[in-house]
Amino acid sequence: MARAPFELAGVRVAPGSRAQIDVPIAKLYTHAPLHIPVEVVHGRQPGPVLLVCGAIHGDEINGVEIVRRLLRSSAIRRLRGTLIAVPIVNVFGFVQHTRYLPDRRDLNRCFPGSEAGSLGSRVAALFREQIADQATHIIDLHTGAIHRTNLPQVRAQLQQGSETAAMAEAFGVPVILNAELREGSLRAYAQSRGVPVLTYEAGEALRFDEWAIAPGVRGVLRVMRQLGMLAASRRRSQPPAAEVANGSSWARAPIDGILRPRTRLGARVAKGQILGVVADPFGNSEDEIVANADGIVIGMSNLPLANEGEALFHVARFDAIEEAENAVESFQSDYEPAPETL
Ligand SMILES: [Zn+2]
Repeated sequence: MARAPFELAGVRVAPGSRAQIDVPIAKLYTHAPLHIPVEVVHGRQPGPVLLVCGAIHGDEINGVEIVRRLLRSSAIRRLRGTLIAVPIVNVFGFVQHTRYLPDRRDLNRCFPGSEAGSLGSRVAALFREQIADQATHIIDLHTGAIHRTNLPQVRAQLQQGSETAAMAEAFGVPVILNAELREGSLRAYAQSRGVPVLTYEAGEALRFDEWAIAPGVRGVLRVMRQLGMLAASRRRSQPPAAEVANGSSWARAPIDGILRPRTRLGARVAKGQILGVVADPFGNSEDEIVANADGIVIGMSNLPLANEGEALFHVARFDAIEEAENAVESFQSDYEPAPETL
């Protein structure tokens, strides 16, 4: 029996074909219509319906490029199941280079949303009803917030033997964070419906970081293989090593001032180690930011200006710190050009 067409926002996509669909989301107050751009790739064979989406935070654009490369990849020509690719969810924020919606709300705190609610709530409800609710699995692509950068990492709620845990491991980046669910996030909403979901966090807002994009594309393809949507790779069956962190915390600016970092992304740090120094512009007063645990720097500020209390270094803790350090080092040697080749 032939597979049924896939329907999204009133458009029917035949098996073995793909379609770009503009899902109407709102109008600008100029009268211009606004759409969420979606591409559906509907395989001939049945299988999972995977949603891959970027820029739910409008300034987190590495995911936009990950989706573009994914859609251009020859690997997805013989797809089992269905791929729903959404490069830009928060189209308002993307146009304005901002994380937020025009009402200053964070779309990723608005789920499940409601048709009668705020702008954020309405956009969340529409995205959910038209797009996300069709998915059996979700990968949500993020970066650090403005002026902050993240070591490529997967965040998911890991339960032993769960499909989410298998997806997280298959993604193949060095750090997996068993992260708390944020209320109102797409991840919390999907999890509440029993849909396996993971978040990929890599690089900085408003940047294209190749070391975040390339492993992101590979990670999504690996998850698709693990889900049986793509044929197994002939080259490499095992994903690169990943370690699950058993917690993380931010080291914060002790005083207001100008930051000189003394560590870098992906570095292993020891409890008590100086991560950076904050000083006033004259150097009259100066204070150190100290690591409060052994761990790996998985996120940090790229802006050397800090107010007291500002989050500057995100340190993840591991039971197997040695293994985590090795996983990060081998990842970085794969994806970061050596200084002499720059
Ligand atoms: Zn984000």
